[in-house]
Amino acid sequence: HAKVSGGACIRFFNEDMQQEFNQRQLLLDALKSAITHEQLTLHYQPQYLHNGEGPARCIGFEALLRWYDDEHGQVSPADFIPLAESNGLMSQLHFVVMNQVMADMDNLSTCFDHDDWIVAINVSASQLRASDFLSDLKHRVATEPRLARHLELEVTESVLIEDIDGIAQLMREISSIGIQFALDDFGTGYSSLIYLKLLPLRRLKIDQGFVKDLLSDRSDEAIVKTVIALADGLGLETIAEGVETKAQQQRLVAMGCKQLQGYYLGRPEPLAHWRKD
Ligand code: C2E
Ligand code: MG
Ligand code: MG
Ligand code: MG
Repeated sequence: HAKVSGGACIRFFNEDMQQEFNQRQLLLDALKSAITHEQLTLHYQPQYLHNGEGPARCIGFEALLRWYDDEHGQVSPADFIPLAESNGLMSQLHFVVMNQVMADMDNLSTCFDHDDWIVAINVSASQLRASDFLSDLKHRVATEPRLARHLELEVTESVLIEDIDGIAQLMREISSIGIQFALDDFGTGYSSLIYLKLLPLRRLKIDQGFVKDLLSDRSDEAIVKTVIALADGLGLETIAEGVETKAQQQRLVAMGCKQLQGYYLGRPEPLAHWRKD
């Protein structure tokens, strides 16, 4: 058929594209409705510190958005974050996350037997660059002063591509209210070492891509070793993401990366799962 009538072939292709477009539009409408009706939730994944002697100690949580839709089922952030990003919805998602974290502060604090815990949220470039980001954050800290002690913002290197000086200045202002920064997915982006010097960072998150084959791939091992040494030299902490096995954990701790996050230690779960009382 395609041979005799190229037109039909093209029309078929276009229908395919039309269908994909419609699917995306449906998902987008569903996402907008989920935001309006407060149907997005947070799961919390624990972060642990291994100090050599004694058991690992839970030092914090990373908050991760979850969206269950009746029509589409569980939609991965890998699908809806880019959708929100390309449709100007990221500021709204940031509000959803901040509102939920603030509502969870009491319950979060009951998960720890110390007061140095961290709750980390992910902040994308468009969120951080929103004109009201800083004023909103200051307002929230005035309402909930514990944020200044416990909140950490995870940014990725993509945040830094444009206007590094402006972003560095903004990050310094945010740091001055007590809120700290982690550099997420470190090593996968457009890293330039100058960022590590210019930006007020508390810690580097070693991307799970380097952890996955750490025990079998000598390049990954060399990269992780180097990142840890670099962070040490700069006075930054390191935390490894995507730790799925005991062997990975042991190797990372032996290499000097004492903070760990991953399925081996705990999956992202609703906060009720982690409460002690
Ligand atoms: P991320 O910030 O790097 O988060 C880590 C991702 O790795 C999470 O996926 C987490 O569930 C997953 N993970 C944790 N431990 C393991 C492990 O041991 N093995 C494997 N294979 N995966 C592990 P998730 O929740 O699907 O989120 C994906 C990405 O979506 C996040 O990557 C983050 O970039 C983005 N995201 C999630 N929530 C938010 C949010 O509230 N705001 C923004 N801006 N982005 C978010
Ligand atoms: Mg993250
Ligand atoms: Mg990451
Ligand atoms: Mg990631």
